[in-house]
This record gives sequence, C-alpha cells and structure tokens, in this order.
Amino acid sequence: MISVEEAIETIKKNSISNEINIEKKLEKADGYLLAEDIYAPINLPPFRQSAMDGYGIHIHKEKEYTIIGEIKAGDKHNYQLKKGEAIKILTGAPVPEDVDTVIMQENTMVTNTTVEIKETIIPNKNIRPIGEQIKVGEIALKKNTKINPAVVGFLYSLGIDTVKVIKKPSIGIISTGNELIAPGLPLSYGEIYESNSKMLLSALYNLKIYDVTIYKIKDNYEDTVSTIANAIKEHDIVLISGGISVGKYDFVYRALQDLEVNELFYKVNQKPGKPLFYGKKNETQIFGLPGNPAAALICFYSYVYISLQSFFGKSETELKRVQAIALDSYKEKRERSVFLKAFYESGNVRVLESQNSSMLQSFTTSNALIYLPSNRNEIKINDTVTVILLPF
Ligand code: AMP
Ligand code: MG
Repeated sequence: MISVEEAIETIKKNSISNEINIEKKLEKADGYLLAEDIYAPINLPPFRQSAMDGYGIHIHKEKEYTIIGEIKAGDKHNYQLKKGEAIKILTGAPVPEDVDTVIMQENTMVTNTTVEIKETIIPNKNIRPIGEQIKVGEIALKKNTKINPAVVGFLYSLGIDTVKVIKKPSIGIISTGNELIAPGLPLSYGEIYESNSKMLLSALYNLKIYDVTIYKIKDNYEDTVSTIANAIKEHDIVLISGGISVGKYDFVYRALQDLEVNELFYKVNQKPGKPLFYGKKNETQIFGLPGNPAAALICFYSYVYISLQSFFGKSETELKRVQAIALDSYKEKRERSVFLKAFYESGNVRVLESQNSSMLQSFTTSNALIYLPSNRNEIKINDTVTVILLPF
C-alpha cells in the first residue's frame, strides 16, 4: 500500500501529455485549449473608425462648420474635407483621413447645412486609430489559452473561425455491480439506483470533457474482462467504478491482471478510497475507483483530475490547495491520510457531517476537501488545515 503523496507522484509521472492537436471550428471549441500562439492577421480596427455618432471635422478657428455629407457604418466613402468642413458620421463608420476629430452629436447644434460645436475641440477624440486594439503580426492569444465566449468573439473579430486546439481525452466509464439499476425502474429488494456513472460523467462535463462513453456490467468475470479490454482499446482514460476491493464478487482487479494492465499502484493508505487502482495498458490509463459514491468522487478530484490536466499539457495538475482555519474538530483513529468533505469560506473551513464514503448528500453542500496527511490524526477547532478547493 502506498501513501497519497506517492500515488499523486505516480500519476503525475505516468500521465500522458500527448498534446495531440486537432482543428476545430471556433464555435464548437468552447473549453478547449489553444494548441499554438495566434498572431493577428489584420489590424484591429482595420481602418480609422468612429467611436461615436457625431460630426467629423477638419479643424479651423471658428466653432461653426459646413456639413458636406454623411458616412454610416459600412460606407465606402471618398470624402475629402477642407478646413471648416464637417461630415455627419455614425458609430463604426470609417473616418476620412482629413477628419481631425469627431464631436459627439450631443455636443453640437445642427442647422440644415451647418453644425456648431458646443465643446472644447480636442484633436483625435472619438476616433479609434488603425490597430488600436491589436496590430497585424502582434500576438493575439497565447498557446494554452482556454477558449471561452470572449476568446471566440475576439478571434472572430480578427477573421479567424478555425483554430488548432489540444485534443481532449476520450473517456470510458465502466460501472460494475449486480445491485445497480437505472432510475426510472422500480427498486426491488436489494437493489439501489446506479449513480456513479452519471456522477463521473457530470464531473467530466464540468471540466468540458464531452467524449465520454458509459458501460454498465454485472459482477461477472467474463463481462468484466471483455468490457475493460474493449474500453482500453477505445479510450485514452478508463474509469472503472466498484468491484475493485477484495470481495468474492469483485472481479475488476483480477480482470486487470489477466489483461496484463501494468499496475502502477493498487491500494492507497487513505480514507476514503483505500482500494484505488491505477495502471496503464499501451497508452491508456486505467483507474479502478471505489464503488462507494463519495469515495469515487473524492478519488476523481484527487487523482483522476491530475491525469486529465496532464493530458491537456498543463503544468499545474492538482486542484488548488489553501490553508484555512478549522471551525470544527475531527479525530481519526488510524494512521492514514484522510479526505474530509468540507465547506470553505473566507479562510475558514467547516467539517461537514456524514463523512461516510457512501454518503453523497453532504457532498452536495461541500465546496472543498480537507486533507489530513497520515501523520496528523486530529483537527482541533482553530487549527490550520490544508484545504483542496473543488472546481464546482
Ligand atoms: P464496491 O466497490 O463494488 O464494493 O461497491 C461499494 C458500495 O458502493 C456498494 O454499496 C455498492 O452498492 C455501491 N456502488 C457501487 N457502484 C455503484 C454505482 N455505480 N452507483 C451507486 N452505488 C454504487
Ligand atoms: Mg460491487
């Protein structure tokens, strides 16, 4: 049995940052990371652009100017202004070379043919110069930038609609257990509703990983072997829920051995989630997660998360840890590391009730985990503890 720290190091070492690049239409690329730096192919704005509805003027000494025409957004004008001339100009319109400044409409008095300026005239007001936002050839966005609505908007404004992104991992989730049935069916005696597969799916969606396939099997050796073998072929990462302990009907470990999965660790000195398995076959990483739902979710965020972040080529792969003041006490009997469902707020952290690994209700009000290393078996009120911030 290895320690939590060794388990984390092992995953970091063995996680693949294969950084496969794929082309994506921008509008379908939300949540992906850019696979390369992007340089501006054009100036933004590409022409001198009016930032206001108003009057462009070629400055002279008087306050009154002669209006010679109008330019609206999208017009391809060929106006030239002499001193003392003005042109009505609308927001987004191209501003002629010899317009010195644009006076906002609200600060003018207009007659049929003239406009009187009611403010101090300052050159270059309300005109966005060429390349004000970014100039052609300048770096627009760096590699690894996460694509979000602002990124999509910015790149489209540069005329870019397709980008190279880092491929997201394909994930297979295998749920094991004779007792598990799908919601919608009535529960017979001894049955429970299957929740881990959708919980893990949701955790992946939450990280914007959408290429996920769920397989459900009974506690049966043949099905366990064939389903795991197939999932290893199909996916970058396989998450197996349940069946990894030492019970008579836990077939996952035996199946993994018979499939010659390279065992990197099995069993971690922790609570919950002691029977955690991590291994590799070819380039596929395999996690055997505990069946108890809260333990499965804790292992997802403490271990699987690292492997997912590595896949994207991130250097920071663990969830953020902070120090916080405990508002509750806790005592652990044995010498092992403990993850506690917790609620963190403004530097303080509460230990939630119902720490049992089967119980998810307390997880629904949790936003963090307290981590107690194996050499620390007690929290007293006002102690400083390590808190892992959950990403949801
Ligand atoms: P196991 O790790 O297979 O021994 O399962 C441990 C506990 O978690 C048992 O009480 C199972 O019924 C429960 N469990 C296992 N898999 C799931 C699942 N997919 N959804 C909900 N509960 C599960
Ligand atoms: Mg089971």
